[in-house]
Amino acid sequence: MKIYYEHDADLGFILGKKVAVLGFGSQGHAHALNLKESGVDVRVGLRPGSKSFAKAEAAGLRVLSVAEAVREADVVMVLLPDEAQGRVYREEIEPNLREGAALAFAHGFNIHFGQIKPRRDLDVWMVAPKGPGHLVRSEYQRGSGVPALVAVHQDASGSAFPTALAYAKAIGAARAGVIATTFKDETETDLFGEQAVLCGGLTRLIQAGFETLVEAGYPPEMAYFETVHEVKLIVDLIYEAGFAGMRYSISNTAEYGDYTRGEVAVPVEETKRRMREILRQIQTGEFAREWMLENQVGQPVLEANRKRWKAHPIEEVGARLRAMMPFLRARVLEEVG
Ligand code: NAD
Ligand code: MG
Ligand code: MG
Ligand code: MG
Ligand code: MG
Ligand code: MG
Repeated sequence: MKIYYEHDADLGFILGKKVAVLGFGSQGHAHALNLKESGVDVRVGLRPGSKSFAKAEAAGLRVLSVAEAVREADVVMVLLPDEAQGRVYREEIEPNLREGAALAFAHGFNIHFGQIKPRRDLDVWMVAPKGPGHLVRSEYQRGSGVPALVAVHQDASGSAFPTALAYAKAIGAARAGVIATTFKDETETDLFGEQAVLCGGLTRLIQAGFETLVEAGYPPEMAYFETVHEVKLIVDLIYEAGFAGMRYSISNTAEYGDYTRGEVAVPVEETKRRMREILRQIQTGEFAREWMLENQVGQPVLEANRKRWKAHPIEEVGARLRAMMPFLRARVLEEVG
């Protein structure tokens, strides 16, 4: 697999262009600010009255309506929630999109599952950072970057790929590495990763550990430190040096327990069997269909789960303990709470 770095990407493909970033959420704020600091001519497209409007302006960006931003742009990066993109595309983007413009995404969902059917005159590509928007921003500011996937769905101009690569460089991704892939593979692996491992899987592993200790009578504060807080410390070691590096760093006692007890907590073959079912539902479009239906009825399952999880004891202990760790505060996202 070829990995592209800074010297493989020519910023010239993006510097002469007018870029519209639609949305100013997790990814939107990071792309817009990183692009601007890389010298790209960027404007942000938002709903009038959006809470992000003032925030984006305060950050020194030009903010317009979605329609106005699209009308000016050679490149339109769509960083709206995935479930809103289809409707906004039909009503506000497509009618204003210049002939021969580039339509760009940070996730392949809407193209791969046919929610957006782009016109033939457009370039359609993706730069999908493999990390949360807030890291895309903070890594850029540190002089580093979050790796990204790039893919081209439609190449009307003949320069879709170098333009995507230039965009990836401008948001800092080429400092870490950019991998070329397809919309299909990005979409399916991204959904699988977040459902089975990163978000769904990891929270359940933590939940099970926390509840086991608390139900056995240990103080929730101790359970929290042991099964939540320390996850980051261990994950950082894996991130920097792999399983081997993490195991080198921990005590021999911890390492022996890891080898001999990990499988008891997470039976790998059984877990893989279940994960294959998650993957199947992604590949067949079953998950996409369910999620689109959920949106047609106003996200009741999403809302009910947000409420239910907010009430979990892990949140109360966590809020109390994190408040005692002032160094965490700078990174707490405003919208949480
Ligand atoms: P978000 O929910 O954080 O932000 C969405 C933004 O769009 C907000 O500014 C919101 O005000 C605005 N918005 C919502 N509806 C709108 C409308 N109808 N018209 C105009 N603006 C509207 O979204 P996000 O998590 O940054 O996701 C954006 C895209 O990036 C998605 O395709 C997602 O899959 C992808 N992505 C996200 C992450 C991440 O870290 N969150 C990582 C990789 C890829
Ligand atoms: Mg979100
Ligand atoms: Mg992802
Ligand atoms: Mg995702
Ligand atoms: Mg310990
Ligand atoms: Mg050791």
